[in-house]
Amino acid sequence: MNNQQVIELTQRYLMSTYSQLPVAFVRGEGCRLWDADGNEYLDFIGGISVVSTGHCHPRVAAAICEQAGQLMHTSNLYHIPPQAQLAKRLVELSFADRCFFCNSGAEANEAAIKLARKWAGINRSGECFGIITAKQSFHGRTLATLAATGQEKYQKAFRPLPPGFTYVIFNDVGALEEAISGQTCAVMLETIQGEGGINVPDDDYLPRVRELCDKRGILLILDEVQTALGRTGRWFGYEHADITPDIITLAKALGSGFPIGACLAKEEVASAFQPGDHASTFGGNHLACAAALATIDVIEDESLVANAAQMGSLLVKLLTDELSGIEGFDHVRGRGLLLAVQFTPKVSAKAVQDQCLAAGLVVNATGDDRVRLAPPLMVSEADCQEAVAILADAVRKVAGH
Ligand SMILES: *Cc1c(COP(=O)(O)O)cnc(C)c1O
Repeated sequence: MNNQQVIELTQRYLMSTYSQLPVAFVRGEGCRLWDADGNEYLDFIGGISVVSTGHCHPRVAAAICEQAGQLMHTSNLYHIPPQAQLAKRLVELSFADRCFFCNSGAEANEAAIKLARKWAGINRSGECFGIITAKQSFHGRTLATLAATGQEKYQKAFRPLPPGFTYVIFNDVGALEEAISGQTCAVMLETIQGEGGINVPDDDYLPRVRELCDKRGILLILDEVQTALGRTGRWFGYEHADITPDIITLAKALGSGFPIGACLAKEEVASAFQPGDHASTFGGNHLACAAALATIDVIEDESLVANAAQMGSLLVKLLTDELSGIEGFDHVRGRGLLLAVQFTPKVSAKAVQDQCLAAGLVVNATGDDRVRLAPPLMVSEADCQEAVAILADAVRKVAGH
């Protein structure tokens, strides 16, 4: 099949939930992708912050193949060796004491929401189910995580949504303080808002939120589905704020592309879950956990967290230098390898995205006026230079000079 044939099949047989770019990738290696017509691309979105170790890293691919030939799935009715090992690794890397595994970011957040409510039922008196989230947040597409997502446009066709969620302006501690009531059991935030536009909070925001949660006896849940595992130049986004959350959720980068999600918590909170409270058929099966274990090994052995920090700084510098003269460019923001290039309203991000794709660079327009960059964590200096040159050309073309 060539690109066009895949597009025709998609249009004929799939529900139209996505507005897809007219390309079908068939092969990947590191930061490179090839489409069904044989064209080569430099991938600067990495499957939306998923392909952490690069496409088809030989160690991750080998781990998956080996596990697939040995045992893929038994269900959580029985003990699962790679799941136990993966939980140990994640606990050693993070603030957490215990893990629950599932298959996606939304499911990880569902687990976090249920855990917070179960915890509140045990530790707090009265009706205490409220969860405060931020406007412009993104927590997933299931009904509860959609309710948690503070964006009207995603919610409106699907009401009624599960109750108990209220929204406050991100990066405003005062607003949060006002929103907390006797019914609040948790605050749930991204450490950097991803889908909402790569919004990095002020340095004192998360520390002050932590203090506030402690003072009011409520849990701090951090949705690190996009920010964890090196993406921001540290293993976890909360490390930049030097705080300890109560619960975090992971997914995107954890399996290098193999679907897996996780909810991690401190012992005092995790212990609220008892047998029967929560479950997932596929969650943490042998195959997914083998992929995640290999992913963590590669991130560690190849120093990809440090590389993300270095390449992130380099990208910000290159982008600022290259784009500054171009009318229509506003600024670059983000942290590590989670960046947004912000344009003025004159420049359409979609047009820049399309122009880049035609020139062999994959980026993502996350809104009318900004493009998101989230390359694999193993991206090189030469890759960054090439990407910035293509992007600058694209912006010049779109801006009309
Ligand atoms: C992508 C994302 C999710 C949803 O993850 P899915 O795997 O699509 O369910 C939730 N929260 C954040 C912060 C995300 O970036």
